[in-house]
Amino acid sequence: MNFCLTHEQTIRSAVSCVGVGLHSGAPVHLRILPAAAGTGIVFHRTDLDNFRIEASSGNVARVSYATSLMKKGVLISTTEHLLSAFIGMGIDNAIVELDNLELPILDGSAQPFVEMIHRVGIRRQRKARTYLRMVRKIELREGDKFIGVYPDDVYSVSYSINFPHPEIGKQTFRTPLTNGSYVEEIARARTFGFLHEADAMRQQGLIRGASMENAIVLNREKVLNPPLRFADEFVRHKVLDLIGDLALIGKQILGAVVADRAGHAMHTALVSRILRDRSLWRETTLEDETAEIPALVSAVSVSV
Ligand SMILES: [Zn+2]
Repeated sequence: MNFCLTHEQTIRSAVSCVGVGLHSGAPVHLRILPAAAGTGIVFHRTDLDNFRIEASSGNVARVSYATSLMKKGVLISTTEHLLSAFIGMGIDNAIVELDNLELPILDGSAQPFVEMIHRVGIRRQRKARTYLRMVRKIELREGDKFIGVYPDDVYSVSYSINFPHPEIGKQTFRTPLTNGSYVEEIARARTFGFLHEADAMRQQGLIRGASMENAIVLNREKVLNPPLRFADEFVRHKVLDLIGDLALIGKQILGAVVADRAGHAMHTALVSRILRDRSLWRETTLEDETAEIPALVSAVSVSV
């Protein structure tokens, strides 16, 4: 794949899929369309007069097991896997139409979205991509949960989890994202859930669309629907979710993100803290940056 770092990108033509929402169980048609440079990612509820909700931090709603956007009482739920695929594939601009309140879960990973984007192709646009370059660190702590972002020349994510389960335990995964590794290393990692928590979650209106086909399902001892796609698929999925939640910043990041047992609520709290504090970052294009940073010169020259 030609991974462009310097310019904004969109998809070449419209592409669609059907599925059910993980939490709502609601059937949904989803269509992704190309969009002009500078648009960002914008959702449209086609069942509600094409009501428009921008994928931005200001529209983040209640966040528990999934990230949801809400504007004037209209909800769009479980946005993180698609937004993650957009960041991982370098898609800056797209219109996303859906005819229900929740995105389809498909196979529980971002891989089906990656394949949809591959099917129609990626178009480089004329506008230089503006990055949010971290210039100071920010760290958030909540009990034993942690998330921080540190200045760096590339975007990377490091995630650690620790589940007291024989098939999970301690896992850490670190990857840079500016070299196209998302597709190889992250996109295929599926969401996961525990059978012994399922009843309680259903009573809260969650996971009504969950099945053995769209999540790794575990009981107290083992995975009930093997094989895993990666030995450490669990932590890789957390990286996938984090990338999707940080996409709500609305720009690609230049910085190193480190997370330990965080979750959607901490991810989105980090987004609003970053956007609120202008002393943490500056906006830049890689044309501005390559004058100063040799590491980026080589990254840019292999990719365009
Ligand atoms: Zn997820």
